[in-house]
Amino acid sequence: MPQLDAQDRNRVVVVGAGPVGAVVSLALCQRGFPVTLIEAEPGPVEDQRAATVHPPTVEMLVGLGLKDAAWASGLLSPIFHYRDRVTDDLVAIFDVGVLEGEVPYPFVLQWEQYKLVLAALDKAKETGLLETRFSTKLIGFSQDADHVTLQVEVDGEATTMSAAWLIGADGGRSTVRKMADIDFEGFTWPERFIKIGTTHNFLESGRGYCTRNYFSDPDEWLNLFKVKGPGEPGIWRGIFPVPPEEPDEIALSDEGIQRRLQKFLPKTGDFAIAYHALYKVHQRVAASFNQGRVLLVGDAAHVNNPIGGMGMNGGIHDAMNLAEKLDAIRTGAADMDVLDRYTRQRRSAQIDFVQAQSVANKKALSERDPVKRKEHLNGLRRISENLELHKKFLYRSSLIDSLNTASAVL
Ligand SMILES: Cc1cc2nc3c(=O)[nH]c(=O)nc-3n(C[C@H](O)[C@H](O)[C@H](O)COP(=O)(O)OP(=O)(O)OC[C@H]3O[C@@H](n4cnc5c(N)ncnc54)[C@H](O)[C@@H]3O)c2cc1C
Repeated sequence: MPQLDAQDRNRVVVVGAGPVGAVVSLALCQRGFPVTLIEAEPGPVEDQRAATVHPPTVEMLVGLGLKDAAWASGLLSPIFHYRDRVTDDLVAIFDVGVLEGEVPYPFVLQWEQYKLVLAALDKAKETGLLETRFSTKLIGFSQDADHVTLQVEVDGEATTMSAAWLIGADGGRSTVRKMADIDFEGFTWPERFIKIGTTHNFLESGRGYCTRNYFSDPDEWLNLFKVKGPGEPGIWRGIFPVPPEEPDEIALSDEGIQRRLQKFLPKTGDFAIAYHALYKVHQRVAASFNQGRVLLVGDAAHVNNPIGGMGMNGGIHDAMNLAEKLDAIRTGAADMDVLDRYTRQRRSAQIDFVQAQSVANKKALSERDPVKRKEHLNGLRRISENLELHKKFLYRSSLIDSLNTASAVL
């Protein structure tokens, strides 16, 4: 095994330049760690998945120095609506602004994940401690007591790298997790989700929509959010379920895309489509987030359905928690056991909050039993109309409770 030279004694290799890999790299560089970030793709990916950033995550990103970039290319969006798509009734209005004075950033930031990646990489480069290697794919690793040896493929050629720590931020199909033989426990939903981005302005629909809307419907629920996109007029993203019997090519056809939008908001002429994609949707959590010097963060450690916008947020919470613990090990304030605590804390945040909440969100929006459906919608209305319940709801849905509870886990 190669020995680490002085410079590499604290080097961290992060695998995957998605939002969580970029944030953990930035957090580590700012704490003085040299970081090599490797990414299989030839450059940062313009991934149009996550956009919703909840208040505690906004606070973390601001702490990392990303406020100017986030405010410039994101949307501050405090209000969200729950609607009954069957009747088009507005069931409940929630306002994160009621948390003014309790959290420093009482709104949701709608900031697309690819913009966050670019901003985080730029900020990390300012430290002089970030090395990025694109077109570099992890294909294997081994570890001993004081370092990890990685096998990577660059332009089809295999080579090796050494580091003190290996962080797998390589997404739901994580090579790091698979090679560490860590179980990914959970299930896959039978339906897929289709995301459709359009430049059509739903604020002008005359139906009173806001920039973040959840529509309950036993036949076809919908999430409809606005993001800034490349600039005015912005892009609206709808996420709809696709039943198991609908073939991919039908769902993804121009006709299929227009049919879904026209069914929701009939209009003359086609909707202008910015992008679309179909996703398999899973609820899974890794059995462990640490194995010696190998750590998992983000989708590599957990995946969930996107209703409520919690996957990337939870991943960023992993990143911040892990950076603090690696720093404590480096300075001698903690030993390696603290990484078991990382797993306990972040698995608890996942299982008790993100998984539970995202499964409940999906079931509630798609509820078929008319009695349960009515109860749920009436419950949301009652919660939204009572300030204490309204705040309690936001503490849970914004992942504030998940962070508070996890930080108390020993
Ligand atoms: C439609 C949709 C909407 C969503 N909306 C939200 C939202 O609003 N809010 C929210 O919090 N979450 C949301 N999510 C979830 C969010 O997109 C993910 O949680 C997030 O992308 C995870 O980030 P990550 O960095 O962990 O992984 P990824 O974004 O998957 O990045 C992993 C990276 O690793 C690279 N990689 C993989 N294997 C290797 C290898 N062997 N070697 C080198 N590189 C490798 C990949 O190329 C990729 O760039 C949404 C998901 C979907 C599907």
